[in-house]
Amino acid sequence: MKKLYKANRLLTALTLSAGLFSACTNTTKTANDKTANVVQKDSLINYVAQRLPIYERVKLSTNLNQLSINDRKVLPLLIQAAEIMDELYWKQAYPQKDSLLASIKDEKTRDFVNINYGPWDRLNNDKPFVAGIGAKPEGASFYPYGITKEEIEKSSLADKFGAYSVIQKDSTGKLSTIPYHVLFAAELQKASSLLKQAALIADDAGLKKYLNLRADALVTDNFTASDYAWLDMKSNGLDLIIGPIENYEDKLFNARTSYEAYVLIKDKEWSKRLAKYVKLLPELQKNLPVAAKYKTETPGTDSELNAYDVVYYAGDCNAGSKTIAVNLPNDEKIQQEKGTRRSQLKNAMQAKFEKILMPISKELIDAEQQKYIKFDAFFANVMFHEVAHGLGIKKTITGKGFVRAALKEQYSWLEEGKADVLGLYMVTGLLKKGELQGDIKDYYTTFMAGILRSVRFGVSEAHGKANMQCFNYFKEKGAFERTAKGTYKVSFDKFASAMNDLSAFIIMLQGNGDKAAVEKAQKTMAVIPTELQSDLDRLTRKNIPVDVVFEQGVDVLGMK
Ligand SMILES: [Zn+2]
Repeated sequence: MKKLYKANRLLTALTLSAGLFSACTNTTKTANDKTANVVQKDSLINYVAQRLPIYERVKLSTNLNQLSINDRKVLPLLIQAAEIMDELYWKQAYPQKDSLLASIKDEKTRDFVNINYGPWDRLNNDKPFVAGIGAKPEGASFYPYGITKEEIEKSSLADKFGAYSVIQKDSTGKLSTIPYHVLFAAELQKASSLLKQAALIADDAGLKKYLNLRADALVTDNFTASDYAWLDMKSNGLDLIIGPIENYEDKLFNARTSYEAYVLIKDKEWSKRLAKYVKLLPELQKNLPVAAKYKTETPGTDSELNAYDVVYYAGDCNAGSKTIAVNLPNDEKIQQEKGTRRSQLKNAMQAKFEKILMPISKELIDAEQQKYIKFDAFFANVMFHEVAHGLGIKKTITGKGFVRAALKEQYSWLEEGKADVLGLYMVTGLLKKGELQGDIKDYYTTFMAGILRSVRFGVSEAHGKANMQCFNYFKEKGAFERTAKGTYKVSFDKFASAMNDLSAFIIMLQGNGDKAAVEKAQKTMAVIPTELQSDLDRLTRKNIPVDVVFEQGVDVLGMK
């Protein structure tokens, strides 16, 4: 849940034909091998030509007039620092970027390499798409090539599971660790001094302090003080998430972090509204459609929720599918002491809405109801999902301790399902109270379309499972129907009661801490029915994009 809506990277549905590709690199070339290579190359070029259109190009822009004159001077410096994170991420994901690109003549393949930060298709289970390239190493370049998990686990290295170092092997086979700030000293020094320059110009005291501390953190790998300073920032208009942050690229241990950056401009008006909604949580908790014993907890109102426009994505968050909501910092000690900030990336959501959700709706939502698909409803549904994580029950009422501990590996998907349905419950409640504007039909129809969008990423991870549970439950309750034309039509009156029933069902599963019952729910409900799968296949045949790719930078912002 750290990096929200990026979990589709964990797709395991499609199999790799890695052996086929890796076999070509070390054989003596005979005439047959040459023919085989040419055939392979052509088929890969065809593969790329088919896959490239899954990404729709979008310009990343915003209204810069909301920034002060000094912030407008700071912005290019932050973008320059972000570009350095991009370089560093390449080094982590695929260090031979330049020689790879130089060896490729096909322009589409070069584009696809840039989108994927390497020769593996991130949204198709890392399938290699350049001739002669083998399977993606699970440990990227964080570990010596070909090393096994056991070898690392058995080693006596002090920092073997460190977040901010790499492991290297010398010619005698001896392992050692090198901290990021040593390995990437030159680049980090450059990024650090850019942040210091930006701090000198910035007006906002909180931003000034954060930029200075983050500049120090980049060159020491000690991020704690800057994480606190980041959470303390309240009145800033510009924001920057920068550094080695998420650990998805390290598929060996999920330990080592990748460089990334987001340059952000706060949407102050939306952020103010969000703060208001968080305050309404206790009352919404009281009205949950479930027996009183399941709703005795008081939801926290201290978590922070903000909306931003992103003007630059770099590194990890820009690779493959694009993140549209982030929950940081990841440091659990800081989380316990001070909470986190959930950042909603509004213009990126808008891009996905226009380029993906709208075309999906045209194909799969009943023609009469397409008028209800609206961006404001999409944005609200995604946001209230976030707020709704704070509602419900954290501790079982059966003496089994915390829900998370009782449900173990079954916890995440059910919690995501809870946030989906209670998010909708919040929308419904706030509309009734007049705290939220709009027509409930917009929110429900857009929610339905949202399920159809997310489920394209499969059910291998938590959000996908949650989506399918909701789909199957709602279908059984008659909350929507599939028309003879193969489109989906919401039954508004039944939608609300299905929502209430599913809310109660999930909260009770959580409150009882009954893991076997949750496993059963997963097996029966978190599956894609054949009929739906064939509807989703229609989207693929019609080339409806799966994700977006950004044109971004100071010139796109009109600052040059
Ligand atoms: Zn969530």
